[in-house]
This record gives sequence, C-alpha cells and structure tokens, in this order.
Amino acid sequence: MAKKKAEKKGKKPHKNKPTSKKYKMFTIDGDKVKRAPSCPRCGPGIFLMNNDKRQYCGKCHYTEFKTSQTTKATSQESPKTQATSTA
Ligand SMILES: [Zn+2]
Repeated sequence: MAKKKAEKKGKKPHKNKPTSKKYKMFTIDGDKVKRAPSCPRCGPGIFLMNNDKRQYCGKCHYTEFKTSQTTKATSQESPKTQATSTA
C-alpha cells in the first residue's frame, strides 16, 4: 500500500517579506520624484548610505565626506611641556 502524500509540491505558502529599502530612497514631492544621492561609481540605482558626516556606498565602498560649513575644531590640547631645567 503506497502512502499518499497530502502535501502538494511546487506551491509554497506566501510569506510577507520586508520590502526593499530601495523604495525608501524615492520620495514623491508633488510632481517630482526626489531621489537619494546615488553612487557616482556604480551609477544610478545604487544609493549611498547617509550619515551626518559622510555618505558611503556599500557596493564599491565609495565614501563621500560632507564638508558643509566649518567643522568645529575641538582644540583640547594640553601641552605638557614642563621644561624645568635647573642648572
Ligand atoms: Zn558604489
């Protein structure tokens, strides 16, 4: 007696997968579509990771530093030059 398999092959149950983050890079502003800055090396479609300091391409490791305004140079130098020369 051969056992009958109740499960059907070929059809997988549908899963709700998380949508690609690519679509978050596009924002519609009225009539125009705003795009996030894309990689100059990889071309359009490959977006750069956005940081407050830099933009980074995860594909070709291109990094673009943001040089907006004057960076606050924290000068916390404490020169410990105590030249005590007692002759
Ligand atoms: Zn790239």
